[in-house]
Amino acid sequence: MKVLFAGAECIPFVKTGGLADVMGALPKAIGNVDVILPAYRGILDKLNTEDVREVYVPEMDKSCDVHLYHEGSTSYYFVQQDDYYDRDTIYGQEDDGERFAFFNLVVKDFALRRKYDIVHAHDWHTGMVPYLLKGKIKTVYTIHNLAFQGLFSKDIAEFFGKDDNSFYIWDQFNFMKIGIEHADWVTTVSETYSKEIMHKDYGCGLEAILRKRRKHVIGIVNGVDYSVFNPKVDPAVKVNYDIGSYELKKTNKTLLQEELGLHQSDGMVVSVISRITEQKGFDLLIGVIDKMLKHDIQFVLLGSGQKDLEKQFKKYLINPNVSINIGYDEVLARRIYAGSDLFLMPSRFEPCGLSQLISYKYGTLPLVRKTGGLADTVKDVKDGGLGFVFEKYTRKALLEKFEEAVQEYQTNRWNKYVLKAMKLDFSFGAKAAEYRQLYKKVMK
Ligand code: ADP
Repeated sequence: MKVLFAGAECIPFVKTGGLADVMGALPKAIGNVDVILPAYRGILDKLNTEDVREVYVPEMDKSCDVHLYHEGSTSYYFVQQDDYYDRDTIYGQEDDGERFAFFNLVVKDFALRRKYDIVHAHDWHTGMVPYLLKGKIKTVYTIHNLAFQGLFSKDIAEFFGKDDNSFYIWDQFNFMKIGIEHADWVTTVSETYSKEIMHKDYGCGLEAILRKRRKHVIGIVNGVDYSVFNPKVDPAVKVNYDIGSYELKKTNKTLLQEELGLHQSDGMVVSVISRITEQKGFDLLIGVIDKMLKHDIQFVLLGSGQKDLEKQFKKYLINPNVSINIGYDEVLARRIYAGSDLFLMPSRFEPCGLSQLISYKYGTLPLVRKTGGLADTVKDVKDGGLGFVFEKYTRKALLEKFEEAVQEYQTNRWNKYVLKAMKLDFSFGAKAAEYRQLYKKVMK
């Protein structure tokens, strides 16, 4: 069975969040999967691509070059169309609708020509693919985050040379809605999220559409690629460690404190690495940070996003126990995972979340809100788990749970949790089998 993954991000080439991690890890784990993605600025300069094919898209009267690059057992195809993708940023351009309409049309052409058995499309950026391939190639559509639907003016339909009522909702063209309605199967990235999105609170307006497709929607929790995220081999980690040399985590903590200008302390290092949005619970966090800082802790933030929230965190720059790092920094991120004790994810909603899984591997215990993939992957220490879980989306609930974690940190149980957490297996291995099974079902 030949499968093509289509998506907007993929490590190690381009990443803004978890989508890229999954696009990078899952094809390798499933096997016999090719990947197609746009060639954003700078990507091709760094790669030795082998083969270039020109593809003409008649619907938009525009051409592109599709470059092939092999890494390990995976073939990557990069769609080079400099008018669309040779820009400073990946998203957030005025013509995003047009840019990704083009990408969807290229994927259709490419998949038909190369006769894939299944095209597995990811997130809104590829939402038209299931529609364009209907009756020709089977499709699976994965929702990584329902909050980003790819909403544009109805004119976008013109790029496809088609008009269909199923394109629109709220008088707008909606890529994600189209993907959900037309794919043979729809997946989300955790079981809990697949159920949550059937309801108003989490469905982002598409709950009724999802309910209609209920029999073809499943949740498969994401995994982590341990060849990438692993303190034993991670080149960003200054002193590599694993379960056998766990005490070296402490050295990384000391080095992190040094790097971030924090004083040397055995107190708990509490960290957050995240897009700064309300989804991730930053409105809760900002309300309790003063109270958190009354304990013997140091707080480290790495992230970027909503300017108003960034500004509120920047106020803490003067606090000697706080390190605020606004920006995206893959190397620093890994050093923070390695040098921290507790990782916070007080998300309002969380389709899966990868950071809590990465944290486990680096021996950093997660404190999460019970929602989506966080509910599926983190159990409270009180219930025999290896993290801290609060349920209600309130500052009070977050703070209470945080204070429990601070107390637990004082006990000799903490090290035992850490060692057990590092042993957990959230690799994509078992998940790959679930996807293969799904593909078999899709092909029937
Ligand atoms: P989402 O995809 O919603 O952003 P996930 O938890 O699924 O959240 O994945 C986030 C990924 O992006 C993790 O690998 C995390 O380490 C990484 N990440 C998030 N923000 C930053 C940042 N500012 N710098 C470096 N890595 C980041």
